[in-house]
Amino acid sequence: MKLSLVIPTYNERKNILQLLKKIQEEFKKNNIQGEIIVVDDNSPDGTGKILDETKIKIKNLKIIHRKGKFGLSSAVLDGWKIAEGEILGAMDADLSHPPEKIKELFWEIENGKADFAIGSRYAPGGEIKGWGFKRKLMSKTATLLARVYTKVKDPMTGFFMIKRTCIKDKKINPKGFKILLELIIKANYKIIKEIPIIFNNRIEGKSKAGTKEIFCYLQNLIGYLPYKKKVIREFFKFAFVGGIGTIINVLLLYILTEKVGVYYLLSAIVSFLIAMTSNFILNKVWTFKENIRLNAKKKYFQFTLVSIIVLIVNLFFLYLFTEIFEIYYLISQVLAIGIALIINFFGNKIWTF
Ligand code: UDP
Ligand code: MG
Repeated sequence: MKLSLVIPTYNERKNILQLLKKIQEEFKKNNIQGEIIVVDDNSPDGTGKILDETKIKIKNLKIIHRKGKFGLSSAVLDGWKIAEGEILGAMDADLSHPPEKIKELFWEIENGKADFAIGSRYAPGGEIKGWGFKRKLMSKTATLLARVYTKVKDPMTGFFMIKRTCIKDKKINPKGFKILLELIIKANYKIIKEIPIIFNNRIEGKSKAGTKEIFCYLQNLIGYLPYKKKVIREFFKFAFVGGIGTIINVLLLYILTEKVGVYYLLSAIVSFLIAMTSNFILNKVWTFKENIRLNAKKKYFQFTLVSIIVLIVNLFFLYLFTEIFEIYYLISQVLAIGIALIINFFGNKIWTF
């Protein structure tokens, strides 16, 4: 067996058989030695029953009936536990993911061009059809947050394949829906490839993604920090650079005002700009280890914009702590700087670098 494709189902009565037929056709047409493992969470709509009773002959089909709704990620993992293939995959049951792309993901790994292949909606050529503004915005935001950890354009997709050996001895147990990001962070792979796909919103049944998933996702994100020591290292370097910047800022303010005789507000602006530029250069080459020339202009602009936003946030919290919570203004400022630093770091990490 080469490929084990897990399909998690919860209330997919109207979709699952059609999908199974299509996958079987794809396997046959492209000579893929594959098995399909459907993991059903005791769907109230009778998906499990339909699967057991179907007259449609599907080769190499395994069905796991679970007792309750234990969630998408754990369904994929349970499926993989009984998988026999060397390549493990997952795909949604609602016909959103194009079965015609199975072969592309599969051959990428089978031919040794990658050990991890992702059906990507955000890679050039990929697309999402049928989602409203709110859903698109949520997906984009989640993807943006994931950029703290990965440059993969679509770390949220439910359609992907990975070599079994890449997850050997790895503890994979994400909360909620999003298993792919956890694999990207924890699995042991050399080459990851994104294959563009066109995602079509489901026609039958309802989406099970809800507010609970947002919290699971945020919890996951925080939990990944210890796995990415690099991010923590970058954070402390960034904070250190910020410290140097502050010293430069204050020193220049003093020199320009007292020794050169510049009006103090003008010196403040000049010293702020110089300190910010020095911060930018240090962060670019030292914190984020980039070539100084790489997109320098664009990134300098982004860095400046983040700095200005952070300055406003800083003032807002300074005001809030001092006026509303009646904290001594210098202590307020220390707290406000802490918050500003976090926003500054993640803002630049996600957007600029
Ligand atoms: N799913 C599941 N268990 C759950 C939630 C979802 O097995 O608790 C399955 C669902 O049947 C579908 C896939 O996971 O095959 C993706 O779910 P859905 O289409 O609802 O999410 P969306 O595409 O809206 O993110
Ligand atoms: Mg769906």
